[in-house]
Amino acid sequence: MLLRMLELNDPVNYPVNRIVFCDTEFEFPELYEYLDRVQAFIDEHYPERGLKIERAYSKMTWKEKFYGEVVSGKAKGQIRGAPLKLYPCWWTKSAKLDPMDRMAKESGMDFMYIGIAHDEQKRIRDTDERYRYPLNEWKWTESDCMDYLDHHNIALELYTVFNRLGCYMCPKQSFRSWYSLWLHFPDLWKDAKFWDNESLRVAGHGLTMRDESTLEEMEKKFKQGYIPKGSVGMECRSCSAISLKQEGIISMDDFFEGDEFERDPEVIRTDGAYAHLNDAEKIEWIPPSHKNALVVKTATLNDWFLDNIDEDPEDADCFFDGADD
Ligand code: SF4
Repeated sequence: MLLRMLELNDPVNYPVNRIVFCDTEFEFPELYEYLDRVQAFIDEHYPERGLKIERAYSKMTWKEKFYGEVVSGKAKGQIRGAPLKLYPCWWTKSAKLDPMDRMAKESGMDFMYIGIAHDEQKRIRDTDERYRYPLNEWKWTESDCMDYLDHHNIALELYTVFNRLGCYMCPKQSFRSWYSLWLHFPDLWKDAKFWDNESLRVAGHGLTMRDESTLEEMEKKFKQGYIPKGSVGMECRSCSAISLKQEGIISMDDFFEGDEFERDPEVIRTDGAYAHLNDAEKIEWIPPSHKNALVVKTATLNDWFLDNIDEDPEDADCFFDGADD
């Protein structure tokens, strides 16, 4: 999207003044190399623009958040641990949404571009003109984007292994995606295992969706030759978070209140494990910020973050999110 906008060189319809990458601390090393490649591409093809890819970070580090306490709700005072599977992810807010908002305020940005492709339109909620979706305006599908990057010899090789990218330890990734991480990125797998164990230790829940499978247990299966079927989807929901925020379904406060929701006893079984997906699907969620509102907008979980799951997770050997965001 960015490279196409630069190519169009259309300051009226697609002005590009700043390029910001929100770094979550859990990016693939290949992604940093890729950013360097993109920067070199921009420098070579559009030197007159003087654009530099800026990095934005969470104000608090992952460790500070992870070992910090939940600040509100029933779980107030408990160690937060890894983001739980139910959206929103507290790390999305801290490492992506907040830095983007800060940057937007600092530079008085009129709008931000969001890279949602034409074949992902269901993720677009057009109620706020500050957010624009060029790929959709151009009717570019994901496949078109890949073709474009191939054509310019600037494709990101990680997409040969994953079809979505986010934090390598993202709790929302599928079983298959964890498998790809284990197979192709042993160092990152080791780090994810560390956080899985650490989260179990300090907060009583791990990184993974299926309650009987810690990453250690998954690894045993993988070593025995087990290859999960299904999607290799792995993605961040931050774009959906922006869309939902602009639609008024969630507010930024919900991310902290989300701790309460994520630990809602209806979602956590009496034995402390997480209720199965099918139970979670039945819940209609009212964001905490809207609980006392006269008109309450609601979203079913299935509407906005479970909608890409395989019909039968058992058959698909897939965790929650096959997903696309
Ligand atoms: S990739 Fe996953 S863990 Fe990382 S910020 Fe997004 S939702 Fe949260």
